[in-house]
Amino acid sequence: MLYTYPHYYKKFQCTASECEDTCCAGWEIMIDKKSLEKYKKAEGLFGNRLHNSINWREGSFSQYHHRCALLNEDNLCDLYTEMGPDSLCRTCRTYPRHIEEFDGVREYSLCMSCMEVAKIVLGTKETVRFLSKEDEREENEDAYEDFDFFLYTKLTDARERLLEILQDRTLSAHVRMELGLALAHDLQRRIRDGKLYEVDAILERFGKRERVEILRRNLERKRESQESSETSRYALMCALYEELEKLEPLHHHWPDHRAKMKTTLYENGKSEYDRQRREFLASEMGERVELFLEQLMVYFVFTYFCGAVYNENAYGKYKFSLACTMLLEDMAQAVWVQRGRHSNQDEQDNRDSQDSQNNQNNQNNRDAEIWLADLVHRFCREVEHSEENLNALEDAMTKRAEFGILSWMEALEEE
Ligand code: SF4
Repeated sequence: MLYTYPHYYKKFQCTASECEDTCCAGWEIMIDKKSLEKYKKAEGLFGNRLHNSINWREGSFSQYHHRCALLNEDNLCDLYTEMGPDSLCRTCRTYPRHIEEFDGVREYSLCMSCMEVAKIVLGTKETVRFLSKEDEREENEDAYEDFDFFLYTKLTDARERLLEILQDRTLSAHVRMELGLALAHDLQRRIRDGKLYEVDAILERFGKRERVEILRRNLERKRESQESSETSRYALMCALYEELEKLEPLHHHWPDHRAKMKTTLYENGKSEYDRQRREFLASEMGERVELFLEQLMVYFVFTYFCGAVYNENAYGKYKFSLACTMLLEDMAQAVWVQRGRHSNQDEQDNRDSQDSQNNQNNQNNRDAEIWLADLVHRFCREVEHSEENLNALEDAMTKRAEFGILSWMEALEEE
């Protein structure tokens, strides 16, 4: 069995009772069958409490005031304390580790719905590396009887190229995201037409030094061949936000939080949105956004792209990653506005001394690290922890005409 994981994987440590937003509150924790059986047999005083703390119909832990019934006042788990670490159900045992399974391969990542993970991922300044190790364990052959190994190999090759593009810091993050989109688009056509043997040539083309020029030429041709349609970043983002609003909310605070960000971003129309965006990018946040976009795209593409082996929708998986990243980019702008962070370069230059300017910058940086991680962990909790939400968003990316390639390209080229 081959195991793959990002280089920061082992940095994670649960902060347990110190956690700013424990994962044992705010959402329903589903219990696997094996654990349910074990809990059914628990005896004694704690056994009684355990039985009363489970919603047996749903197969989940009950909640009191939106907290797991077994989470005590010190934010520690009573099940863990009373019955030991082995008693935890699969969700609690593995969270925030996320596993994607393929024939003979297990890919590990850390889920940014945990605030500590979000801090690690977004705080990673270097390009993320993916490490692998192998052991003798054999896969259960029957579980992968229909596994399309040829497609999987092409997807992993494509993902490798995508990650290389997304981490090419000689290009702006938006140009990298465009290149990735074009690659996924061309790859999808080969999957659809059953021409996987052409994928290597596509990946070679996207590996060339002149790939941006090629992209521009192809894009121009595409624009000429299509009837002109009015698209803008504002229009695309409004459509994306609409999709976000359709998802089932998991945390009771989320709908309100989401609505406030929407008001800040889109309610005053396109010109106000554009003005606010220019201001955001000209502020100290502008530089930070580049790394933010890179780490988000790498995170989503690594986690989800190869899952296309099960539904043959590589383009949809890439657009899903793009949608999450661009939504988070806009939401970061909204939170920045809501926090009253309007300091731009001119204001910084006008500060009286170099020292106070440096101190202020350091403080702003520390604050931004925290609020960005907070935003991302809330978003990921809503989108990534519901199969229904994951599928709905990918589906919308695939089916709605507003999410065609030119709309994304126009939006990514707007500054
Ligand atoms: S959210 Fe993360 S850090 Fe907090 S309790 Fe859960 S696993 Fe630990």
